[in-house]
Amino acid sequence: MSARVIIVVLGKQGAGKGTQCKRLAQHLGIPHVSTGDILRAAVRDATPTGLEVSSILHAGQLVSDDIVNRLVKDRFNDTDARGGALLDGFPRTASQAEALDEILGEDGVKICINLDVPNSLVAERLSSRRVCQECGAIYRDTDIEAISGTCSNCGGDVIQRDDDLPEAILKRLEAYERDTAPLLSFYDGRGLLVRVDGDQDPQEVTAEILDVLSERGIT
Ligand code: AMP
Repeated sequence: MSARVIIVVLGKQGAGKGTQCKRLAQHLGIPHVSTGDILRAAVRDATPTGLEVSSILHAGQLVSDDIVNRLVKDRFNDTDARGGALLDGFPRTASQAEALDEILGEDGVKICINLDVPNSLVAERLSSRRVCQECGAIYRDTDIEAISGTCSNCGGDVIQRDDDLPEAILKRLEAYERDTAPLLSFYDGRGLLVRVDGDQDPQEVTAEILDVLSERGIT
């Protein structure tokens, strides 16, 4: 794989960004960088940033650009991100996309994958989603891990995230339409946007993305 492969994965909450980024990270050997995960960990660990953003996260609103831009910039300095990263949940606004370009300098974003799914599917997926607080593994409410509350991967607590509750889901979908949908035109205008149907088996979605990456000479 060439120097630094930055892949932006866009899509509504519940489109499967987290699942696909985890799968792709294994295939490509670059880390899955989720600003949502970084922020939730900061809240859980009660770091200064976590204390600052806690109420914003619980309300399903967007954290300020300054904070997330800084978190991403710091994350890129980690050794494991030297070869690139799969960005999940960032950028989320046009101004974050511009900040990302600045952070990356010459390297730039290689491709932007838009996981396309209808709102009805998103609402269904999010409300049934359960997540391991320790390792981030994702389950459905009918899975044994969700029922027992224990992750089979790491033994951590499996919970329903506050922002997967119905009211927060609605707010997050509204925020997506308002702030993130314009990013599609931002990347489309640069010839970097590829639409992938997110309403298929996760394996099929991954295979389709890997095909696109290889067709474009990215991997
Ligand atoms: P996510 O897991 O990506 O849905 O993110 C969960 C929450 O973290 C969001 O509802 C926001 O409050 C916050 N968040 C995550 N990424 C960003 C971002 N790029 N800009 C602003 N807020 C963010």
